[in-house]
Amino acid sequence: MAQEDIFKKLVAHCKEYGYVFQSSEIYDGLGAVYDYGQYGVELKNNIKKYWWDSMVLLHENVVGIDSAIFMHPTIWKASGHVDAFNDPLIDNKDSKKRYRADVLIEEQLAKIEEKINKEVAKAAKRFGDAFDEQQFRETNQRVLDNQAKWNALHNRFAQALNDSNLEELRQIIVDEEIACPISGTRNWTDVRQFNLMFATEMGSTADGALKVYLRPETAQGIFVNYLNVQKTGRMKIPFGIAQIGKAFRNEIVARQFIFRMREFEQMEMQFFVRPGSELDWFEKWKETRIKWHRALGFGDENYRFHEHEKLAHYANAAVDVEYKFPFGFKEVEGIHSRTDFDLSQHEKFSGKKIRYFDPELNESYVPYVVETSIGLDRMFLQVISASYCEEQLEKDSRVVLKIPAALAPVKLAVLPLVKKDGMPEKAREIIDSLKFDFNCQYDEKDSIGKRYRRQDAIGTPFCVTVDHQSLEDNTVTIRYRDTMEQERVAIADLGKIIGEQVSMKNLFGKIN
Ligand code: ATP
Repeated sequence: MAQEDIFKKLVAHCKEYGYVFQSSEIYDGLGAVYDYGQYGVELKNNIKKYWWDSMVLLHENVVGIDSAIFMHPTIWKASGHVDAFNDPLIDNKDSKKRYRADVLIEEQLAKIEEKINKEVAKAAKRFGDAFDEQQFRETNQRVLDNQAKWNALHNRFAQALNDSNLEELRQIIVDEEIACPISGTRNWTDVRQFNLMFATEMGSTADGALKVYLRPETAQGIFVNYLNVQKTGRMKIPFGIAQIGKAFRNEIVARQFIFRMREFEQMEMQFFVRPGSELDWFEKWKETRIKWHRALGFGDENYRFHEHEKLAHYANAAVDVEYKFPFGFKEVEGIHSRTDFDLSQHEKFSGKKIRYFDPELNESYVPYVVETSIGLDRMFLQVISASYCEEQLEKDSRVVLKIPAALAPVKLAVLPLVKKDGMPEKAREIIDSLKFDFNCQYDEKDSIGKRYRRQDAIGTPFCVTVDHQSLEDNTVTIRYRDTMEQERVAIADLGKIIGEQVSMKNLFGKIN
């Protein structure tokens, strides 16, 4: 099935099974804003816990905060967002559709890469075990030509971004003959800059309202609390501050479901280090974070690092963790070496000293910062994309979400085989004994087969069935979602069996 079709099905599945709804749906929706349903919120909470505990529990020098969304407007002046948090936009004059100029060019680069990969895959199939990929890439003329094309475009693009040269960005789009996917024409406007921050007013207009912004990132809430946390927590460098919270960006092109939203959630950690040591820490966090992703078992080949074409105004190193979504490799997380830019700017704009006295060096300095910044919603989409499976079985088919057990919204469903003979009561008893440890669901409606399918579609890793034998010997069948295998176990052992498999310790063991 084409990847686009899979993506459409996945979006429909998220709605049908209570994961994600369009915001304000009964009013025809609001662009790029989404609500999470009864299972979506559980999955989101579990992802948050996986991230939070991996930062705060596993690192004794990382602590958390929860700062306000509204902040003093000067913060956004100091951080550079008022002047430079822009995206280059371009309109197609025929379709009247608006695009990000950089994204159009990135998609063109991805197309060339796709051609190369297809060529390699074809050859790999032809030559079988004897295939030497490196040699093929170095000698096949079509691959070499496309690689040269990619390099030339990539260099030109990076140069244009670094020079903030909007005319050149437009010229690249023209020269590459990039057409609007809607109108199919190449009738483009000039490229303009567009600031992504939402603004609103605080206080009544009578006494002069203050223009405030909805934060476009959670990081600044950490920077302006650096001193508070360092002093009250008696933190010693190196140390980190983690935060999970909402961020808002008036995205120009908001497509691809929850991949690019106008209101979204970030999980960010700012790690404060000695000047000069930041690139070592950058490498260390890069490694820690990729392990965190890979521990979920979605396949190492589905991740890659992507170096930035243009470093943000504050960074001296930056890399994205990309995951292979059904619509291609895309950024899920950014790891940035932000230098002392933010803290120095806040020193300048606030007039307060933001320093650290390093007892080992016997000197004060403005700490350098390495940031890890991951979008919770994109991570959610990664989990759903990786977990969604359509399986052909002997007699029928099933749709199953193979969500890692530790993240699954419902851990077990308890199902009485029939609605009588004391089975419902026995099932309720089991739930009562397990509900403080796991999110359990009771279901007695429809045939047992249908109930299994429903739980598969939600992603419940265990179904426990109560039958006549259960009433006699206190055993049940436990059915495993991924293999569909069943085994008979004692009710008394359920807590242990399930507890071992859903524990986040299984994931933490792989990253620590
Ligand atoms: P992009 O290039 O896709 O716009 P970005 O590089 O601007 O993203 P960052 O500023 O590095 O993103 O933000 C850190 C993380 O926040 C991203 O890796 C992504 O997971 C998430 N994120 C950013 N913008 C959005 C959005 N509009 N919707 C959902 N998640 C987002």
